[in-house]
Amino acid sequence: MSRMSTIKGFRRGWIRLAALLAFAAVFLIPHSGFAAAPATKIVLNARELTEAKDVMTVGNITMVPIRVVSEELWYKVGWNKQRQRITIGEGSDRLVLTLGETSAEAGPVSVSLQQPPFVKSNTTYVPLRFVGTQMGLEVKWDAPNRTVYLTNEEPAEQPVPEEVPGAQPPSASVQQISFADGRLSVLLDGEYSPVSSVLTGPDRIVVDLPDTTLGSGFVQGLPGAGNQGSIETQGQAGITGVRFSLFSRSPSLVRIVIDLERPSDYKIYSQGQVLFVEPAQTGDTPPGKPDSASLVPEVGDAGRRVIVVDAGHGGKQTGAVGVGGVLEKDLNLAMALKVEAQLKRLAGVDIVMTRSDDTTLSLQGRVDIAESVHADAFVSIHGNSMPIGSPPTSGTETLYSRPDSQVFAETMQRHVLEATGLRSRGARTQSLHVTRETTMPAVLVETGFMSPGGDIEQMIDENWQDKVAASIAAGIAEYLGLNVNG
Ligand SMILES: [Zn+2]
Repeated sequence: MSRMSTIKGFRRGWIRLAALLAFAAVFLIPHSGFAAAPATKIVLNARELTEAKDVMTVGNITMVPIRVVSEELWYKVGWNKQRQRITIGEGSDRLVLTLGETSAEAGPVSVSLQQPPFVKSNTTYVPLRFVGTQMGLEVKWDAPNRTVYLTNEEPAEQPVPEEVPGAQPPSASVQQISFADGRLSVLLDGEYSPVSSVLTGPDRIVVDLPDTTLGSGFVQGLPGAGNQGSIETQGQAGITGVRFSLFSRSPSLVRIVIDLERPSDYKIYSQGQVLFVEPAQTGDTPPGKPDSASLVPEVGDAGRRVIVVDAGHGGKQTGAVGVGGVLEKDLNLAMALKVEAQLKRLAGVDIVMTRSDDTTLSLQGRVDIAESVHADAFVSIHGNSMPIGSPPTSGTETLYSRPDSQVFAETMQRHVLEATGLRSRGARTQSLHVTRETTMPAVLVETGFMSPGGDIEQMIDENWQDKVAASIAAGIAEYLGLNVNG
């Protein structure tokens, strides 16, 4: 017997016990049906989940909307309406739950739930502890503070360095690194103070972040031991690459290196949680060591408008899987990079990409970037899909969450629809993390459907992508009243 079955056996035992306790609770405690529990909080790896606002408790079981599982825990979620079945995850560890039923499938094994999934106000709720535990999360309940703690950190692969007694954890962590519009941007949590220099042979800019580590979410998308990586910088003039590493563990130091085609001066500045490093364009500024201590914000300076382009998913989060195995994250990135190229033609804009390559970034990380740079507009790019077994669906839609994004969404939908040539599903409201938690006009464009009978043929077509990218840029330009350069 494998280790896997031991774990499954252990889980089964645990669930039986929990089911008994839940059974007891239902009969011993006066039970008033569905009780809203606004005080219940869910914390994933030390970060409170903002999606989890409408948590419910039934009996003593915490039930969460299924979108928390897909949007915040990043598991693939499917829905079969006919069979009333919810699938979570993929492959041999896939969970299958049925509305109103206490028996579920965990891979090949049948298991019992404390509370069955149910639908209330058009929202499907699933038991959090059951789903979390089955998906390999560590779940802890802090009763006095009504907080569920979820942990999905893998044990470290390399030996942990010897801790100096009383040593503090690093004061900052890197959440994301990307390169767009001629500048490197680094999203950081915590207090940071970079030290930078230009070196030759090869020409490069070196940025050291003392007392900083690589964030756990960011590390998830990195190869190997997860302590180094590189960023693709195709199409960025004068840049041959960006690489980074956890240069030292004790003391903790992150080093980021921008490799240059030729010697170049640079600017370094920060805005909220985002650190920018901008190599000078040829003949831009005389060489000289920049004052890395001043960190004066420059994105959005001199009345330039700031546009944040967000390629949906990335890294470990593939998004939808389309016909032929096409991954949504790849289509989203290709489209976002084309949008960036189009936006560069506009006068008076600074463009910031939440990701410029295939890296993992949380939904809140995307919001943090947009908020830090005080974006004037936020556009998230996605491909749509329907669960297996649904009727074929096609069309373009632009989603928004707050009333102050409505005009932007309608403007965007008009432009994008003309370019996609697909059926209009409208500019519609939907509660989505990135469009809801941002404070500037924010939209999420679903260009077409990747599922069978949808629009995948167009979506993988380079010419179609170019046309749609141009239309997204045109939508932004019209909304912000921007003109093409020259
Ligand atoms: Zn998506």
